[in-house]
Amino acid sequence: MQKISIVVSVYNEEKVLNKFYQAFEEIKKDLTWDYELIFVDDGSSDASSSMIREFASRDPKVRLIRLSRNFGHEAAMIAGIDRARGDAVICMDADLQHPLECIPEILLKLEEGYEVVNMVRTSNRSVGVFKNLFSRIFYKLLNRMQDQVSFEENASDYFAVSRRVADILKTHYRERVRFLRGYVQSVGFRKTTIRYEAGNRAGGNTHYRFRKLVSFSIDTIMSFSDMPLKLGIYAGLACSLLGLIVLIYTLCTFRDAPSGYATIVILICFLFAILFVIIGVIGEYISVLFAELKDRPIYLVEEEMNFPDGPGEKDDLTVG
Ligand code: UDP
Ligand code: MG
Repeated sequence: MQKISIVVSVYNEEKVLNKFYQAFEEIKKDLTWDYELIFVDDGSSDASSSMIREFASRDPKVRLIRLSRNFGHEAAMIAGIDRARGDAVICMDADLQHPLECIPEILLKLEEGYEVVNMVRTSNRSVGVFKNLFSRIFYKLLNRMQDQVSFEENASDYFAVSRRVADILKTHYRERVRFLRGYVQSVGFRKTTIRYEAGNRAGGNTHYRFRKLVSFSIDTIMSFSDMPLKLGIYAGLACSLLGLIVLIYTLCTFRDAPSGYATIVILICFLFAILFVIIGVIGEYISVLFAELKDRPIYLVEEEMNFPDGPGEKDDLTVG
């Protein structure tokens, strides 16, 4: 019998964990695969850990990884994928926005031989118009800025990968500035999508405020595209063209040339603005390089529970 590892990232989710676990108990009876349910507690400060310990004491297939602090959603997913031992891995959120009812369908797709199953939201009512618009513009931009992969607009952090792809993620996608959902879409292999309707959070609040989303988007662009680095070339070309036009204009109107004070001030502001933006962009890339160079662990594990193979191998604990 094949085994599925379900990785659930949890950060201060005491309000929804019971509901999640109940929903899981409902569907687990119908699962045709053996399972392990791995909760990754991403440094919660509420009762999440003790609730998970309670589930784990009732069911030996429920496992807990508690990280030493909050490392962020993606790091939590990576920690779970690293420790998963199933024949395939499903990643999902704890807030029931990723319907558990889709799991049997995902298993069917995996049985058909698909190695990547992307879950795509058909509608996201919980998200405001503004966030939705932002996300659409972001994906359009991202797809224009690189041509390695065509990113699915409404892909979510709900996905399934085969053992082979999980091992690839584990060994080759260890960047500090990363976009896990993007890697899953860019590894290739036989892939398919399942559409689902994202509901509202079962309780509590989202951890992704708009500002965090913006910085997440910038990181994503930098991890998949180096187009912004080339902006300087375009800006340089545009400015020389502008200079040329002003030169020709001045030559033609030589006799009654205006004083030019306003022109100079405007041009200086404009040109310096371009220059500073470009320096800023380069700075962003350098900060990514710097983070990679420091090579710090993506996450640190403080506690594990119910893992049959004992404490993780060393490189599972502090992953480099
Ligand atoms: N999460 C996490 N670490 C964080 C932030 C969030 O593990 O630093 C988890 C959170 O518990 C949830 C999932 O990631 O299970 C998605 O977070 P959230 O629902 O807040 O994001 P949204 O669905 O609003 O994008
Ligand atoms: Mg959510």
